[in-house]
Amino acid sequence: MPYDFKKAEKEFREVFKKLFKAKKKGKKFYCLEMFPYPSGRLHMGHIRNYTIGDVVARFMRMNGYNVLYPMGYDSFGLPAENAAIQHNLKPKIWTEKNIQEMKEQQIDMGNSYEWSREIQTHKPEYYKWNQFFFIKFFENGLVYKKKAISNFCPKCNTVLANEQVHDGKCWRCKTKVEIKHLDQWFLRITKYADELLNDLSKLDWPERIKEMQRNWIGKSEGTLVKFELEEELKKALGINYLEIFTTRVDTIFGVSFIAIAPEHPLTLEIAKIKGKEEEIKKFVEEIVIEDRFERTSKEKIKKGIFLNAFAIHPFTKQKIPIYTASFVLPDYGTGIVMGVPAHDKRDFEFAKQHNLPILFVIKSENTEEAYEGYGKLINSENFTGLDSVEAIEKITKELEKRNLGKKAKMYKIRDWLISRQRYWGTPIPIVYCKKCGIVAEKIENLPIVLPEEVTFGKGNPLETAEEWIKTKCPKCKGDARRETDTLDTFFDSSWYFLRFIDPKNKKQPFNKKIVEKWMPVDVYIGGAEHATMHLIYARFFVKALRDLGFLNIDEPFKKLVTQGIVTLGGEAMSKSKGNIVDPSEIIPYFGVDALRFFILFKAMPEKDLEWSNEGIEDIKKFLDKVLDVFEFFKNGKKFGNKKDKLILAKLNFLIEEYTRFIKNFEFPYALIKFMDFIKSLNRYKEEISKDAFKEIFNKISLLINPVCPYLSEAIWKELGNKGYSSLQKWPKPNKKFMKKEIVIEEDYLSDLIKDINQIKKITKKERLEKIQIIIADEWKRKAVRLIKDCKNVKEAIEKIKKSKYKDRLNELMKHLPYFIGIDFVPTSKKEIEILQNNKDIIEREFRAKVEIFLEKDLKDEKAKKAMPLKPSLIIF
Ligand SMILES: [Zn+2]
Ligand SMILES: [Zn+2]
Repeated sequence: MPYDFKKAEKEFREVFKKLFKAKKKGKKFYCLEMFPYPSGRLHMGHIRNYTIGDVVARFMRMNGYNVLYPMGYDSFGLPAENAAIQHNLKPKIWTEKNIQEMKEQQIDMGNSYEWSREIQTHKPEYYKWNQFFFIKFFENGLVYKKKAISNFCPKCNTVLANEQVHDGKCWRCKTKVEIKHLDQWFLRITKYADELLNDLSKLDWPERIKEMQRNWIGKSEGTLVKFELEEELKKALGINYLEIFTTRVDTIFGVSFIAIAPEHPLTLEIAKIKGKEEEIKKFVEEIVIEDRFERTSKEKIKKGIFLNAFAIHPFTKQKIPIYTASFVLPDYGTGIVMGVPAHDKRDFEFAKQHNLPILFVIKSENTEEAYEGYGKLINSENFTGLDSVEAIEKITKELEKRNLGKKAKMYKIRDWLISRQRYWGTPIPIVYCKKCGIVAEKIENLPIVLPEEVTFGKGNPLETAEEWIKTKCPKCKGDARRETDTLDTFFDSSWYFLRFIDPKNKKQPFNKKIVEKWMPVDVYIGGAEHATMHLIYARFFVKALRDLGFLNIDEPFKKLVTQGIVTLGGEAMSKSKGNIVDPSEIIPYFGVDALRFFILFKAMPEKDLEWSNEGIEDIKKFLDKVLDVFEFFKNGKKFGNKKDKLILAKLNFLIEEYTRFIKNFEFPYALIKFMDFIKSLNRYKEEISKDAFKEIFNKISLLINPVCPYLSEAIWKELGNKGYSSLQKWPKPNKKFMKKEIVIEEDYLSDLIKDINQIKKITKKERLEKIQIIIADEWKRKAVRLIKDCKNVKEAIEKIKKSKYKDRLNELMKHLPYFIGIDFVPTSKKEIEILQNNKDIIEREFRAKVEIFLEKDLKDEKAKKAMPLKPSLIIF
């Protein structure tokens, strides 16, 4: 009888919606999936993410943990605003419709979320606390406003953070990003650069993700060096030095030019002084719109202009020409670099173009190209003869002594640009007062609610909310204007996991004590694409909130699982490629349980998963088979008990192995074991007692709960149990039943049946009349016992060559690998006994007569091939 999954889904869907609640007491376990953006319908990637999460949550709950497993929506963001423009719909209405749709599908999936904790970030009761944190950061100097070179997406019509620019393109719409000078709000994430880097070692995260964060933070240790300016510039600029950062101060005697980033304010100032203003202005305009990745690539031609200016070398006191050059970025280091053509490929190209000297100061065989490695110093005054590492230390010390430099650290990571010129986000709680300047709102005035009456389509919609913009200054009560930028939605998702712990709190963002009890998140599951966005922001937020006294932990996510993508035809599913499999079309045919089982069974969580319709069909058939066996048990009238011992031994070995695999996130291995067990159960169903059956299905309904929650509850209920399987204790293996010799017999038999099937297939026999099974001689067993503990085949061969079986090596050769590491070699008497006991099973399986022989009793060449545990087979 096929499994009526629709009936089970209908019944238990409503139960699961309300069944799960974290308790006040018990060993805590916080399981969380990355905060979804409510895009409407679920795609396979979502399903995979949530299925993995729910398996963990259900498994830990049944293992006695007090599990917190919430779900909510990261519901601010640009798509809602674009939909508003396209379909003339209010973003709020569009968003809430999507949430409703998505939530219904999530409930269908049977996940054990605690829905009463649901949060939606577009609700004032949530974003009020975004504003609260913004003000706290503002008061503590962690947020500031400055004019800066910003990434601007012309399509999204807003600025972006550096983290949201991928290969020079907008992360959301893939449009090429432009550079603009704009007044923007920044979070001082760089203050935590060192800690963000060092604490990575504490985390149980995939090494790949940690490495991406290390590269993003991009720490380099080096030296700050001051180059004195020529007198004319000193006077005109009012500064005495140009400061550069280098990791290779050992090459300082090879400096032949200094290069300033075109956007650096000093570039234009020096140009003005030197009468090159027009030329440089044009050059800067040309460079700033160039892609920063192309600018710094070693292959591209380097553009630059001499500024007619000079600085003084700190050691040689020679005049060094100052250029502005496209390959220098304004926001890395000090935005000024020293050019050492002999030891840097980019500088080498630049020097050749501009006829600058190329001075080798590290010994190199080849002077036709730059040598970038370490080595022995040459032409370096007192430092000549030192090797690079020592020279870096000594030159830095000497510079320090002369007050012309010092040891320094630099980071690639920039402060996080958080203001957006868009509507559907948290209003920044700042007002501009003519008298007081930039003033933060008072906490008691929060939330500053997003106005509904705005005009879309022309720039920042909030600028059209005239009445809303007009306000009073919280300080002087005079007329003031509201900030019209909103917060990047990554701000909302940087602390939502804290709000889940205390979601209804009206007085505070969360209660410190309760948060400390539940944090950190024990397992966090999501996509690797967030490695240098959300996962860095959230880590920063927790550290900043810790320093402001809101909590007492350093890191938000203890263990991170990044699931692979779902592919079809080897490529990521995507609308544009038209290779999408919609879960809502799969579920009505195969059921939620089959979909969950398939997703877990097909690939390890971190690997990509190739969708297959045949695959899920097979799983559906398998689940029907489970129900078949269950029906047999329920309706059966006569039961044997010959196989009770065996099947109970198998069951308890299964519990042990399956539990271990689930615990280690090795879901495919767990499910293969489960499927093997069901095959054995089906094979012996007529020889299993009613009591044993009941015991088995009780355990099965629990074991399968994390994977197939509906099937689990359906069986549990049919067995006449009270309550829900989802809330039961996880089964423990009973050592009493776990006798290796019992299962060895069963394994022997399974192998034998598999081998007979194999031969049947090769010989293309439709049906068999007779099967001769030939048992290996006793001497072979002795030989095998001799080598079973060898490490490899080579060692085994050596051992046999030294034994009395050396002349018969050929007879053993073929099966040697099979015997290495084997833990039990039966005598021929034992093997015959096993076969006699199970003869009828084999006869039934193949509807053929079975004859058993000893190798020495049968005059057939094939008989000689018999090995212990691997009898020779002749079929008729
Ligand atoms: Zn964009
Ligand atoms: Zn004021």
